[in-house]
Amino acid sequence: MMKRTIDYRDLIKQINEVEKIPCKAKEAGEFVKLFCDTPNNVRALTDFLDKKEKEYFVIPGRAEKPIKIVIKGIPIDMDLEEIKADLVSKNFRVDKVNQLRKYKTGEPLRIYEVHLLPTANIKEIYSLKSIGYTMVGVEPYVNKQSNQCFNCQLWNHGSKGCKLHPKCVICAGNLPSRECPSKGKPDAPIKCTNCNGPHTANYRGCPRYPKNIQRSKLQTGKSFAEAARTNTQNVNKPAAPNAHTPTPMPGQNVNKQTPQNRPEQTGPRTHPTVNNGSLPTGEGLNEVIALVAEVRKIFQGIPNISETLRNIQSTDNVWEKFMILTEAFRPNCVTP
Ligand SMILES: [Zn+2]
Ligand SMILES: [Zn+2]
Ligand SMILES: [Zn+2]
Repeated sequence: MMKRTIDYRDLIKQINEVEKIPCKAKEAGEFVKLFCDTPNNVRALTDFLDKKEKEYFVIPGRAEKPIKIVIKGIPIDMDLEEIKADLVSKNFRVDKVNQLRKYKTGEPLRIYEVHLLPTANIKEIYSLKSIGYTMVGVEPYVNKQSNQCFNCQLWNHGSKGCKLHPKCVICAGNLPSRECPSKGKPDAPIKCTNCNGPHTANYRGCPRYPKNIQRSKLQTGKSFAEAARTNTQNVNKPAAPNAHTPTPMPGQNVNKQTPQNRPEQTGPRTHPTVNNGSLPTGEGLNEVIALVAEVRKIFQGIPNISETLRNIQSTDNVWEKFMILTEAFRPNCVTP
């Protein structure tokens, strides 16, 4: 994926005709997707883009994509290197081993996420019975989270092949997050580089977080791009004077979102709470619960609920629905 530039079509021509790298392009919003057939051509292309100082990131092809699994039952304090060595001795190519932790407490779990690089025997991993004389179970890793790039803060690619300019996760500045001048200063302003909203870029409530874009698409039937755009515009709108603005509370440490505590980890994370109108929280939620309790009391007064429901459903007119409901209450609604 290359950042779209005005001259990109000339560049594609040059890649194909001068550099002799067979490469096709497909437009994708602010990016241009470049396709090459072989790993060698991919390498030649990235070398060329590096030389031209172009901004791009690489999405690994299926052939090089590691297979992600979880191994359950490994002792909680087992050394990651020991697990890796055990798997290597069984002829697996291990890319990464990572212990999972409880999301809220950060407590380590007896579950390890392992990335294996493709080998002929890779499917045999699912029949693995033990690691270091401990009985284990292996399952495919189901990623419920989208992964965010540490470098540019965009979603669904890793920082490994990312040559986009760095963006700070805390303040949206054009610098790596670890060099952020706001780091360690709880009162420093925070800004999301993806939506310009008043939260850090790894905040899951961000309208540009992939799941939120998807959700909003499902709700409105809009395209992903439209949904993302609308959400961004909403966030960019200046807040009304008394609107609920999600500024970090004094106790909420922005510096907790340092590079050691990033989205790819399963550990705990703090972020400002945003009430984006989807679900009430806190005070609002209590009010809703109280309201539901009152409504229940009201409905206990209806002698024949199913008949009333049928009658209400038989009309589209809201006023008529209301009148049917009032009718239904009449026999019981004797004011004291
Ligand atoms: Zn990136
Ligand atoms: Zn920063
Ligand atoms: Zn955001």
